[in-house]
Amino acid sequence: MDLENDVRSLMSVEPNTEWYETTHHELGHIYYYMSYTNPEVPVLLRSGANRAYHEAMGSLMGLAATQKPFLVGLDLVPASAKTDQTQTLLKEALNYVTFLPFASGVMSEWENSFYAENLPPDQLNAKWWELVKKYQGITPPTARGENFLDPATKTHINDDPAQYYDYALSYVILFQLHDHIAKKILKQDPHVTNYYGSKEVGAFLADIMRPGASKDWRTVLKEKTGEDLSARAMVDYFQPLMAYLKEQNKGRKYTM
Ligand SMILES: [Zn+2]
Repeated sequence: MDLENDVRSLMSVEPNTEWYETTHHELGHIYYYMSYTNPEVPVLLRSGANRAYHEAMGSLMGLAATQKPFLVGLDLVPASAKTDQTQTLLKEALNYVTFLPFASGVMSEWENSFYAENLPPDQLNAKWWELVKKYQGITPPTARGENFLDPATKTHINDDPAQYYDYALSYVILFQLHDHIAKKILKQDPHVTNYYGSKEVGAFLADIMRPGASKDWRTVLKEKTGEDLSARAMVDYFQPLMAYLKEQNKGRKYTM
C-alpha cells in the first residue's frame, strides 16, 4: 500500500483446497513485494525478475503447501491419511500440465492474432475454436457462431493481456525452483516435501526475490539453479504419471 511493508490481500475465499492453494499463491506475491522493497532496488525496478517470476513464486508456495508432509506438519491432515501417488499426480497434472497448451497456445495465440495480426471481426469466435481444437483437442458440443464471443468469457482476455503467457512460463520456472529446493536443499523427494521451518529454503527464495527486476531473470535462474529455462524438472516430476498413462493407454489410437 505504501511501497514499504504495509501489505494486504483482499480475497473472497471459501474454506476448501482450491482457496487454500490460492491463498498461498497470493502470499507468494506478497513476500515478493516485501523482498524487493529495499533501498538497493530503485522504485521502478521493484517488480518480478520478469512477470512470470511473480506468478512462479506464488504457485511454488501453492504447490509446496499442498504436499502431504507439510500438511501433516501443520496438523491439517493426519499422518495416517492414505494418499495415492497416481491420483495426486493426476490432480496436479490437470492443474499444471493441461494448463500449458491452453495458456501458451489458445490464449496467447488468440491474443496475438487479435492484437498483432488484424484478426477480422467476423472470425473472432472461429479463430478461438480453431485454437481450442488444435491445442486442447476439444470441439464445442454445438456450433459456436460469430454471434458468440467465447474468448471474452475469459476475464484476462479483456482485462489483462498476455498474462497467460506469463502463467505458462511461471509453471516451468516453478518446477525448476521446486526441483532444486527438494533435491539440493532439503534432500527430499520433490513429490513429498516439507519447506516448513527451513531457513535455507527461505534464504534461497529471498535471494531470488530481493533484487526484483534489477537483475536479469536469466542470470538469476542460472545462478540459483545452475540451469537455463527448461521443462526438464517438470517432465521429471510427472515421469511416474507418464509411465502409468503409457501403460493404461497401450494399444489405444488417438483420433480426432
Ligand atoms: Zn498470481
